[in-house]
Amino acid sequence: MSLDFTHDYDAPLVTTSLTPLDDGELSLRPKLLADYTGQEKAKGNLSVYIEAARRRNEPLDHVLLYGPPGLGKTTLAGVIANEMGVQIRITSGPAIEKAGDLAALLTNLNAGDILFIDEIHRLNRAVEEILYPAMEDFAIDIIVGKGPSANSIRLDLPRFTLIGATTRAGQLSSPLRDRFGVSLRLELYTPEELTRIVTRSAALLGIEIDPEGAGEIASRSRGTPRIANRMLRRVRDFAQVYHEGVITRAAADHALSCLEVDHLGLDATDRRMLSSIMDHYHGGPVGLETLAATIGEEAVTLEDVYEPYLMQIGFLTRTPRGRCVTERAYAHLHRTPPGDSSEQLTFDRRMNHG
Ligand code: ADP
Repeated sequence: MSLDFTHDYDAPLVTTSLTPLDDGELSLRPKLLADYTGQEKAKGNLSVYIEAARRRNEPLDHVLLYGPPGLGKTTLAGVIANEMGVQIRITSGPAIEKAGDLAALLTNLNAGDILFIDEIHRLNRAVEEILYPAMEDFAIDIIVGKGPSANSIRLDLPRFTLIGATTRAGQLSSPLRDRFGVSLRLELYTPEELTRIVTRSAALLGIEIDPEGAGEIASRSRGTPRIANRMLRRVRDFAQVYHEGVITRAAADHALSCLEVDHLGLDATDRRMLSSIMDHYHGGPVGLETLAATIGEEAVTLEDVYEPYLMQIGFLTRTPRGRCVTERAYAHLHRTPPGDSSEQLTFDRRMNHG
């Protein structure tokens, strides 16, 4: 019997946005800080702020969480709500179309509640302006009527906590950024942390996995828990059909190789991105938009989903003139860097020595 798993599971393995395959994801989200693996720096600071706010019996200051998708921003917002013992309302920047939508959300909050706005950098300007007095003075100004008889009424809001999440802190306007008392950056996870996450998820899903199997998935999931959990489910399918239901290193390797994920976690798009810089732009620099057009991907996807990991493993660098691949990337793809780069080096050295 031969089953073609690659067919059903085409591209979304590396997508870090939610897909239907993540259906069970909610059940895998840790509920308390103690179960939230990694991000020690962010967790350490947060636990102090939470404890202090609890002792003062006040809501937590507004929190901005930023970092690549799938690293646990939404999860952490839920954890904060649980630790504070308050309700959380979840929405996202693009979902709030009109100022009135946000006003309705805000006036329905109870004292102490958390409003979580994902992709907060995508709020439109009119909506964002409602947020300023809401965050600072816990009040909003509503215009009633039209023309000369229009009146502005100030509505008081309960004291709430806004948690904003963004993949790009740099795109936030400074008035908005300045209104967050706490700003926390989430980092890519280490393979050890991801091994713990995979082991925990496997236990919750009732999947049999040995430590090497968990380690193999962890080291190939590009620092991202969402990808690790997604790989776990796919590898489980292979394990059930070919490896007696147990995820061992061999089972994980078999499954991930079939899914074209290499031992560093790079998929076909990563490889296309790197080889296109090598083949068409002599290793770079090349502008992001040009590169995206060359390989037929969205520039934001390359920037948010692919680049952070490629930069972390030292395969890609950003320069003011564009993206460049490194010698390590050439070595990984079994290619030789262009000869002129070493000539350039020799030339530079000669110039430096006068
Ligand atoms: P983001 O909001 O940053 O895109 P999510 O909070 O949706 O990411 O996290 C994606 C998934 O990864 C979650 O459903 C959760 O199962 C898992 N996850 C994220 N961070 C952690 C963590 N620190 N420990 C365990 N699991 C995590």
